[in-house]
Amino acid sequence: ATMPPLLAAVANAGRHGVLVKSAAVMERLGTASAVAFDKTGTLTEGFPRLASVHLLEPAQLARADVLALAAAAERPSEHPLARALVAAADDEGLDAPAASGFTSRPGRGVSATVRGHRVDVGSPGRLDVGDGHDAPSLQRAVAAVEAAGHTVVVVAVDGLPAAVLGLTDRLRADARTAVAELGTLMARQPLLLTGDAEGAARAVGAEAGIADVRAGLLPADKVGHVRAEQAAGARVLLVGDGVNDAPALAAADVGVAMGRHGSDLALETADAVVVRDELRAIPTVVALSRRARRIVV
Ligand code: ADP
Ligand code: MG
Repeated sequence: ATMPPLLAAVANAGRHGVLVKSAAVMERLGTASAVAFDKTGTLTEGFPRLASVHLLEPAQLARADVLALAAAAERPSEHPLARALVAAADDEGLDAPAASGFTSRPGRGVSATVRGHRVDVGSPGRLDVGDGHDAPSLQRAVAAVEAAGHTVVVVAVDGLPAAVLGLTDRLRADARTAVAELGTLMARQPLLLTGDAEGAARAVGAEAGIADVRAGLLPADKVGHVRAEQAAGARVLLVGDGVNDAPALAAADVGVAMGRHGSDLALETADAVVVRDELRAIPTVVALSRRARRIVV
């Protein structure tokens, strides 16, 4: 017997490095009319590096102390920004103090107790830190990091912001081509949905060729944007990699996870997994689906 076209397409997608979980998913890939991307780890490689450290007035701590405390608080986290801070502290040969009471809030940051101090590391607008700090110094540092198109992370010690860090991540080599190819396959303009701030999001959007950028989103907000597109008649293909993308991957008509470093939750929730992490495989499988569906109908 000859294999049904959609099953043959599933096998063919596998040869292109995409694990499509069923024939029904294979069919839905070809009916998507809009594509939305997560930023960190999806359009970018997902290995940010520390680019700048801005100590805030009044100076509480030296650069090395800030980095050591931030890395200690981040060590249990699997977030790409956490891995970057741990790597930066290790590269600089800093002592790794022990942390206790670690907590993590998706889309916001982490907290822990280090050397008897409460350390919070995360998004400036989303940390509950006190306001007994010099706000102009914090705002100037945040503005400088945003102007560079980098991701802003604040380190607060005992409720007072001590430093602003800038982190940057390289665009995947095939991101621009994949976005352009999907743009020609889909009726609608591609979207970027990210928890990161506007400045860093727009910088990556511009590099990748995405003009419609929605920044500062919590995981539930990504779902809201997917549902709004669906309410406007779109069938949404969402590409993501993180724990914070899992709800949106589930809400999308087709959820596609980047597999190599994707979180377990994203891989389980997604309908298809890009095993070799090549974004260009996505337009390839959309085209495979369309060809198979033409044969089926
Ligand atoms: P994305 O949608 O780009 O994957 P996230 O939702 O994971 O982004 O995070 C959004 C923002 O929250 C980050 O830009 C950062 O400011 C902050 N953040 C989240 N987790 C962490 C963490 N572990 N360490 C530092 N900052 C964090
Ligand atoms: Mg991500």
